[in-house]
Amino acid sequence: MLTVSHDPAAVESQLLGRELPCPRCQDRLRPWGFGTARVIRCGTPIRSRWVTPRRARCRGCRATHILLPAEFACRRADHAEVIGQAVELGAAQGLGYRKIAAILERPESTVRDWLRTFKTNAPAITEAFTARVHRATAEALEFWPAPAKTAAAHALGMLMAHARVLARLHGTAAGTVVTMTWHSAALFAHGPWFFSEAGWPEGVQHVPALPRQR
Ligand SMILES: [Zn+2]
Repeated sequence: MLTVSHDPAAVESQLLGRELPCPRCQDRLRPWGFGTARVIRCGTPIRSRWVTPRRARCRGCRATHILLPAEFACRRADHAEVIGQAVELGAAQGLGYRKIAAILERPESTVRDWLRTFKTNAPAITEAFTARVHRATAEALEFWPAPAKTAAAHALGMLMAHARVLARLHGTAAGTVVTMTWHSAALFAHGPWFFSEAGWPEGVQHVPALPRQR
């Protein structure tokens, strides 16, 4: 499974142009039907949306992969935007899971699981994304987050720095202003397991499947 662009047309053209690398062997992926359709809960109040992800097959190792757009997190029934909001309310604003669950109209147990998972992964997230910010820019200090009180807040700050770096790099390359949410940037970089307990420290998407520059 790997994370790809939000834009189905871009994914299709990447597949047909053999631009997407296999996460296992780095050979090229080609279209291979579709994965199972499922319902994703978007927004507040909840709007249910059917999603059918593309499937691709590697011409080298012949493995098939589900291509999950960067707005979805693996094994989560909610849109990444909503999980991201919960993490912001918890890590940056210090709200508890009950309050966040009421704001986002989601079950308390679900929100508690998101926050717990993020908190557990926070040190690994900070380490991985600090390295990314460093690698991506010689002016890393310009993007550095302010000191934070908790490990989760620090991880979130570093994720936001990573998104700002990517937006700057893509904007410069495309000659325009690009905005990028931290959760899409994180899913692009780490892959669909970003919000999962299982995704750390392994499960890293070594080659980010970023949308093609136009
Ligand atoms: Zn392969």
